[in-house]
Amino acid sequence: MKPRTVAIDGSAASGKSTLASALAGRLKYLYLDTGVMYRAVTWAALKQNVDINDEAAVSELAEKIDLQILPSEVDDGRQATILVNGRDVTWLIRGPEVNVNVSQVSSYPRVRQVLTRQQRKIAQQGPVVMAGRDIGTVVLPNADLKLFIVASAEVRARRRHLECIERGETLNFDELLASIIRRDKLDREKPISPMIPAQDAVIINTDGLSQQAVLERVLALMENS
Ligand code: C5P
Repeated sequence: MKPRTVAIDGSAASGKSTLASALAGRLKYLYLDTGVMYRAVTWAALKQNVDINDEAAVSELAEKIDLQILPSEVDDGRQATILVNGRDVTWLIRGPEVNVNVSQVSSYPRVRQVLTRQQRKIAQQGPVVMAGRDIGTVVLPNADLKLFIVASAEVRARRRHLECIERGETLNFDELLASIIRRDKLDREKPISPMIPAQDAVIINTDGLSQQAVLERVLALMENS
């Protein structure tokens, strides 16, 4: 039977969101990239000059902000449109300042609690492909199929660097690589909901694989499961 709930976890820039979005499109399932929710809270905190180290203030903000994730209607490479209190922050939440601070924000239990609740609610709406760090372990532990996507830091930094260039942004490759390695370490070592594969997750290494090849591997896995 086709899995109705697919959890895709993995490290920064591993290609999990691209895979999740393509898979959801193919299966006609709902798609949710949970990383955007942690990014949106981080962006809002920075924007409102909330001290990122002030756990209570950041948590309060996460509980208060109006966060909406809408299907993309703009043809600029986005997978969805992210609104924070009505403002389109889809690209703003991808900036370096958010990258530097998001792991700290996502380590706060109250922030995780409020976002996990929203993620589970979305999963109740129908068959879903959900991407993140703790989907198979915490958010949807009963998911029918769990994937954990890995790739070497260099490959991931190269992919992200290319994406930035395509969007007309200039970013130093070494800085990008260092930021990915740092974020992975923080995400792996988080005391709650660390980035680890669920015991029953299938691990897929995407080094040397095109996006299409990864998608085909997963579709084949579904056929044979
Ligand atoms: O997936 P993405 O790189 O956009 O995620 C941004 C950050 O959000 C991660 O580095 C991680 O700290 C946090 N995150 C999380 N749990 C998730 C998804 C993302 O802690 N389910």
